[in-house]
Formats: sequence, structure tokens, C-alpha cells
Amino acid sequence: MNAPVSKDEPPSIRWGRAQSPWRDVPTSDWNDVRWQLKNLIRTPARLGELLGLPQGEQDAVAGLSKQFRWAISPYYFSLIDPTDPHDPIRRLIVPSSDEDVEEGLADPLSEKDDQVAPGLTHRYPDRVLFVVTSFCSSYCRFCIRKRNWKHSDAAGSREEIDQAIAYLRAHEEVRDVLISGGDPLTLPPEQLDYILGQIKAVPHVEFVRIGSREPVMLPMRIGDELLRVLDRHGPIWINTHFNHPRELTEEAAAACERLARLGIPLGNQTVLLRGINDELGTLKRLFQGLLKIRVRPYYLYQADPVIGAAHLRTSVWKGMELMEGLRGHTTGLAVPTYVVDAPGGGGKIPISPNYIVSAGPGRVVLRNFEGAMFSYPDGGTHVEVNDRPSASVADLASGLAQRIRPADHPHYARRAQLAEARRGHDGDPE
Ligand code: SF4
Repeated sequence: MNAPVSKDEPPSIRWGRAQSPWRDVPTSDWNDVRWQLKNLIRTPARLGELLGLPQGEQDAVAGLSKQFRWAISPYYFSLIDPTDPHDPIRRLIVPSSDEDVEEGLADPLSEKDDQVAPGLTHRYPDRVLFVVTSFCSSYCRFCIRKRNWKHSDAAGSREEIDQAIAYLRAHEEVRDVLISGGDPLTLPPEQLDYILGQIKAVPHVEFVRIGSREPVMLPMRIGDELLRVLDRHGPIWINTHFNHPRELTEEAAAACERLARLGIPLGNQTVLLRGINDELGTLKRLFQGLLKIRVRPYYLYQADPVIGAAHLRTSVWKGMELMEGLRGHTTGLAVPTYVVDAPGGGGKIPISPNYIVSAGPGRVVLRNFEGAMFSYPDGGTHVEVNDRPSASVADLASGLAQRIRPADHPHYARRAQLAEARRGHDGDPE
């Protein structure tokens, strides 16, 4: 059932339930979130059995389990190619001896420094982060909130939630509440109903955002009861967390469809991860595939220096190179903003390749995604149209010429052909 949506991967790496040990499980069980939770893979021995792990690796996983918990649903596990030790889905979720728990920070974004009430971080002027539970169906190996689910899976108590709500009521500058975790959509619907109802009753809060990986990890969770709760408390925006095109399964697409049909705008936050999605073709397939299931790529995050995840981090230069390959080369809706979360609680900093080549009074020189450069009259500068090509940025900066185009570029070759055809047509006596 869960054949990935992406069609441009070789069949040999398209995995799913049909190839998995759960191929004979009745579909009614497979699509039941309770069955998935009852059958979580959560022991090194079971992991060893499914992936053929040597005893040494199983022992390493047993050691890591004491540091940070893990558990994987059969649904998500069925996306792993068990024959590939470097499988990207496996790297996302399966603990391994690559994790150095001596390396990295427990709270890389210093969220605790801006914590104003239980679970409530007030960092930016008009919005707050509200962590309502430590429970998550993912336990991503690169999670920046590993510290929250290290020892406990607890949801915020009613008393803690009420303290946070009291802060919101007292702070009229807060107009946007981002509910996160753990994963808020794992809460019992009545608990989520209570939290959303309380937030909605705060007059100056204009809307709520929810960050959730459930459409990716356990899309069967997006059922009627949950949808009724979300519908009751709009306007709500949801940010999903797809990291790889193989996560774009039929089930995930159906979950996003159900949310979108409620009128909930869907965005996606991807973390850039070494050996998982730090390759242009993979990212393009992911972002283009998201648009096909009505999800707008929103942020591409630089992976933070959290404990035990050094092996998954890329350089910022890698991120810039990938953005260079996306912007202009595919539809703008498929291009997220690449951000680095500044250490010590500095907040998100957008990073983009530089498209300004030179700037002076009245004129800037810009380059486009093809490498062509243009002289752009700035502000009230007199616009003189000239079609003189140039080989010099200095000519562009002074306005002596308008453009430098890359030689033999297919776009400009096509344009030349069109111009030629038009000339032929204009010269036609008919
Ligand atoms: S889904 Fe989010 S909160 Fe849950 S483990 Fe992954 S990164 Fe952490």
C-alpha cells in the first residue's frame, strides 16, 4: 500500500509494506494507529533481526538506548531498505554507533534561556513557542529537543498548561502561538482540544501554528476525531516535517489531503542532513513532491550541533550550494528559505547565495540563476535602454552596457532562434 509517490527513483530502492516483514498484516490493522503503536520496534534484538545487525552494533544501540530513547513504527520502518546500511530513512531514525554522545550540546538553541512559563519560550517579539508534550512518534536522531524526551514522554500537566496560558493572557504583544513538542498531534484529542480552546480564548492571539511529524511518521493518526478538533479551533496552520522524498507515501499524501481539505494551510520544515538529503536531486524531488501533496516547502534548516548528531551535519557552504541549485531552477514555491538557528538563542538567520555582484550610487549589478549579469538602474536613475553586450562588470556598473550572458546557454540559444524566426516572419511578403 505505501509505495512511495516519487516515480523517478529506480524500483530497486522503492520499499514499502509489500517488501516488508508486515506484508501479511491485514490492512485494517496496518491502518490502525493502535496496532502500529502496539507493534513498535523498540529493542536492539528486534532491530538486529530486521536489519541483520552484528552483535557489536546491537550492543552499541543498547548503550545508546540508555542515553536517548527510540522506537519505530512498522509503517515507518517499512520505508527502510534493509539491505542498505546507508539507507537515508534508516539514518534518520535508527540509532547507530556513529552517534558520539560526547559531542554536541543538550540545548543548542538555548530555549531554556527564554522560557517564561512551563513549556513556553518567548524569543521573538510577537510570537511564542509552546511545547505541550515531550512525546513524539519519531525520536529523530538529530532532534534539538532530545533533552525533553531523554527520560520522559510526559505531556504538560493541566496546571503547567494553565500557567503558560496565563502568560499569554498577560502579554498582548503575542499574536502567534507555535505549538510544538515532542509532537502535539500525538496528544489525546480531548487534551489538544483543551489547549487549543484556551489559546483561542486569548483575544489578542490571532492564529495558532502546529509543528507535527505525524503525517510522516504515523499518517493514520490524522483521523476524524483529530480533524474535528482542529476544525473547531481555526485558523490553524500546520508545518509538517518531511526530510526525504521516500517519505512521500500514499498514506502521507492522504493525511495531508485530509488536513488541506479542512482549509489548513500546510508548510514543511526540512532539516539538511548529511547522507540523507544533502544532494540536489533528492532535495528537488522532495520539494517538488511536497507541492504535489499540497504542502509548501517553508524552511530548510541547517542541522544544529545537538548532542550525538555530529555525523549528520553538513557545512553551511553545502547548504548554499544546494540553494544555488534550487532558486530559479525550479518553481519558486518549491524553494524554502534556508536558515541557520544562531547558537545561544540568536534566532533564525536566513542564508542565501549572493545575487548582488556590485553596487554603486544609482546602479547595481545583479546576477541571475543562469550566471547572466545585468546592470540594474536603482531608484530614480534615468533608464537608458541599450543592448550593448559586455565582458566587463565595470561596464555594467557604470551603465555602459546592460548584460553579460553565459555563452551557449540553451535559454539564450532558444531566444536567438525565436528572434530569427520572428525576423523571417516579419520579412514574409504574405
Ligand atoms: S519530530 Fe521533531 S520533536 Fe519529534 S523527534 Fe523529530 S525533530 Fe524531535
